[in-house]
Amino acid sequence: MAETPSDSIDAPWIVRVALDVPLRRYFDYLASATEPISHDDIGYRVRVPFGRQSKIGIIVATDTVSERPVDQLKAIETVLRDVPRLPTDWFRLAEFCAGYYHGAIGQVMLATLPAALRSLSAAKARSAKRRASCPAEAQIAPALTADQQAALNAIEAHGDGFKAFLLHGVTGSGKTEVYLRLIERTLVRGRQALLLVPEINLTPQLETRIAARFPDARLVSLHSELGDAARSRHWRAAHSGEARIVLGTRLAVFTPMPVLGLIIVDEEHDTSFKQQDGLRYSARDLAVYRARQNDIPVVLGSATPSLESWANATGNGGRERYHLLSLGGRAVPGAGLPAIRCIDTRVDRLHDGLTIPLLSAIESRLARGEQSLLFLNRRGYAPVLACAACGWVSHCPACAANLVLHLADRRLRCHHCGHQTTLPRACPTCGNQDLGAFGRGTQRLEAALRERFPQARILRVDRDAAGTRRQWEMLATQIENGEADILVGTQMLAKGHHFPQLTLVGAVAPDAALFAADWRAPERLFAQLMQVAGRAGRAERHGEVLLQTRYPDHPLYAALARHDYAGFAAEQLAERRQSGFPPYTFQAMLRAEAENIADSLAFLNTAKRAVSAEKYPQIILYDPVPMRLARRARLERGQLLVESLSRRALQHFLADWLNILEHCKHPAHLRWHLEVDPLEC
Ligand SMILES: [Zn+2]
Ligand SMILES: [Zn+2]
Repeated sequence: MAETPSDSIDAPWIVRVALDVPLRRYFDYLASATEPISHDDIGYRVRVPFGRQSKIGIIVATDTVSERPVDQLKAIETVLRDVPRLPTDWFRLAEFCAGYYHGAIGQVMLATLPAALRSLSAAKARSAKRRASCPAEAQIAPALTADQQAALNAIEAHGDGFKAFLLHGVTGSGKTEVYLRLIERTLVRGRQALLLVPEINLTPQLETRIAARFPDARLVSLHSELGDAARSRHWRAAHSGEARIVLGTRLAVFTPMPVLGLIIVDEEHDTSFKQQDGLRYSARDLAVYRARQNDIPVVLGSATPSLESWANATGNGGRERYHLLSLGGRAVPGAGLPAIRCIDTRVDRLHDGLTIPLLSAIESRLARGEQSLLFLNRRGYAPVLACAACGWVSHCPACAANLVLHLADRRLRCHHCGHQTTLPRACPTCGNQDLGAFGRGTQRLEAALRERFPQARILRVDRDAAGTRRQWEMLATQIENGEADILVGTQMLAKGHHFPQLTLVGAVAPDAALFAADWRAPERLFAQLMQVAGRAGRAERHGEVLLQTRYPDHPLYAALARHDYAGFAAEQLAERRQSGFPPYTFQAMLRAEAENIADSLAFLNTAKRAVSAEKYPQIILYDPVPMRLARRARLERGQLLVESLSRRALQHFLADWLNILEHCKHPAHLRWHLEVDPLEC
């Protein structure tokens, strides 16, 4: 039974609340006699009845009128004032995010809060048990290179207001030092700095380095490996302003920070800034929006910027939206860029996946006591197990994909859905005991190297060997201490780390991505190879990079050998302009998954027919097609691409379309979602 407003409460007495439910709207409640509410309560969390339970929500507004009949409104239960109110700029960011990516506003808001603050059942915060951080030894700032100084001067010249900078610098050129100087300048002005990184797992070195440089400023990290209690503690410290520096992964872009003065996005090209399930937002793009709203500078850094950012920074005809800053050489004197060379595998045959020139290069490193790194972006022993007698192959029962052979623990695993079984002793169809492993993953490469170099200490670094931050830290320490001669790894090894004794990098089988159907594949391949090449010879020793390829004349490899990102980017952008791909068009993808593909495609066809094309002349709706991995985890998936030359027209169309789609009938088991600016096509 709802309470009626007493005469003593003037107004407002309607409380508008954001709740974690999949609806694109807020919910109205009544203030109760026991819980008077004022305009000043906007931003507090609140406990309200919802259905037969209670939920935690956030007060977004107060009002004197409601669109719903007042006698149907329920009263709020409690206002939770244990955490300071969420600030206005935080609301703006969440609302922009929900609007641009077409998500449910309440879900967006609540999902950004630490679990302990958004659910009733969440564990009470444990007593603050801070990890005994080693007393940071105050580190003295190194002298700047001319390029670093110029970059800093350019940023300084823009003052404290909004400007987006793209800091382009090869691996080892000292981007981090520029970040540190910018953070220092921000702290001196009494403001907070937010540093976003793609994967916190790989950046304990960065955390240590920042802590050492600013021993007096509280630094907190926010990432998925933190326990609920620590995450909540760190988030509160940022929100209260006590933490001056926040280092976090994509979700940290939403951290409320009362005196935010700077945002940095390191490795801005990295696809992990894009959330791949639920609300598919780009933390990098939101960082730029947030900086604009807060009128502060944002710095995007990368050795291989995303082509979107590069186009924004190089533009044409002086219409650059971002200011480009370049760091040319390497910051450590004498550390030249590694020499990159192709080995033609049509001439030099592969033996267990390795050519003689690569093997002898490894041998000479072993003789000199230097490290080698072999890059193969495929984990497991072999991508498929098969029977030559009857043609059986190790299909995943739930996906349109093969089960990968993992010999280390004798299992077959699906890398898409996680399905796994023990290794069969014989062919399940015909009983043949002689099953063959086809193709090559990191485990097989490791085995071949052990046979070839029995005296060498070999370490494998991939998600199987270094799945947790702890495992990774142990491996990284072993590598840094020179306890490994040969490293075998996936792109995990390519990121962020500095191994001073590493002088040889071999890319074992990079060709597959050259001709992939995904038109973004070359961009990703170039970035990966550039990054992994950047591991070689970062200290005083010269590095060498060898690429095993059947296409030694391919322009991508040629640009790589010249260390010519700009040339590569210009060529790719010209192609994209000609083919009408992003960033020259704007896209959204409607996807559906169901028990069978017919249902998925039928829904997408209904969705396409639900709007009249004449009403939206600037919009192209393509025909629904099955996704490239058409079946995953027993669901069959289709997609429909929407395209426009105008971002505004696309946004307008999507808003109208979603209102229709939400009422489209479909089988109960079918799920659909919309992704704006999709990275997978
Ligand atoms: Zn068989
Ligand atoms: Zn599977």
